Amino acid sequence: GKDDSRTTVAFYDHAVRDRILREKQIEDAMASALEKGEFEVYLQPKYSASTREIVGAESLVRWNRPGVGLVPPNDFIPLFERDGFVVQIDAFVLRETCRMLRGWADEGLPAIPVSVNVSRVNLHDPGFVGKVCAAAREYGVPPGLIELEITETSVLDFENIGRLTGIIGELHDAGFLVSMDDFGSGYSSLNLLRRLPVDVLKLDRAFFAGDADNARGRTVIAEVADLARKLDIQVVAEGVETSGQVDFLTSIGCDVVQGYYFARPMPAGEFERLRRPQNKN
Ligand code: C2E
Ligand code: CA
Ligand code: CA
Ligand code: CA
Repeated sequence: GKDDSRTTVAFYDHAVRDRILREKQIEDAMASALEKGEFEVYLQPKYSASTREIVGAESLVRWNRPGVGLVPPNDFIPLFERDGFVVQIDAFVLRETCRMLRGWADEGLPAIPVSVNVSRVNLHDPGFVGKVCAAAREYGVPPGLIELEITETSVLDFENIGRLTGIIGELHDAGFLVSMDDFGSGYSSLNLLRRLPVDVLKLDRAFFAGDADNARGRTVIAEVADLARKLDIQVVAEGVETSGQVDFLTSIGCDVVQGYYFARPMPAGEFERLRRPQNKN
């Protein structure tokens, strides 16, 4: 009756107010957090399924909030996307990645490409490509070692897909690699594959996680992998958790795999230990 609805409204107000307060706290904390060095770049290795060698990595941001602990990006990236702060975070992650690549080169470690996530917000910054070039130049990193991950759904922000194609073209002209992240999580994936000249497809885990034991799903994924190969696009499977998935992905010719089955995202120091020959430790 009447009382019920009043209770519901009051409860709803509380929940909303709590959420807004919590979000406000995060937003207030983040501006100074960058200056205080609370953000850290973790690396998750990408492996060749056949040789089990590390052939690349993805940079993933972490927030060490004093008194709170390690905050996962899904708790703050969406907020930062709303207020634009994500542009600063992504720039920080890119610079850190360049700094690491520089360090590995100086140490004589074999070069491997590292990918960084590019929030859709960056794609509306006319200076974006220039900033990416400047970061690589500052650290003397060959652009071919840097891969920019653009999520499949950022295309939804563009009324005209041609503008996004233009940005990818500019990145290519400068020598960078571009990948389509979370491929298969949207509804227009094949159309995007047709229109966007990406170098790498990152198969979303949702795309093969449940389907590996289902003939229909397997056929779709095998065909996508085949199509990518014909378009000269490398396929990377992410979120690989089981040896069964590795076997399946290998059987359809997807050799680069990333996921908890192999390694979780880790601090740079740990990643470097993993890459260094044992005798040099
Ligand atoms: P993403 O780009 O799709 O990154 C992959 C996420 O899957 C990572 O979560 C990674 O830790 C997780 N993952 C890796 N292997 C497995 C697995 O085997 N099983 C499962 N269940 N998960 C796995 P993480 O690091 O928490 O990041 C979540 C999302 O936050 C990322 O998804 C990305 O969208 C965003 N993000 C992370 N770092 C950045 C950044 O520097 N900039 C921006 N703009 N977004 C970021
Ligand atoms: Ca990613
Ligand atoms: Ca992804
Ligand atoms: Ca994702």
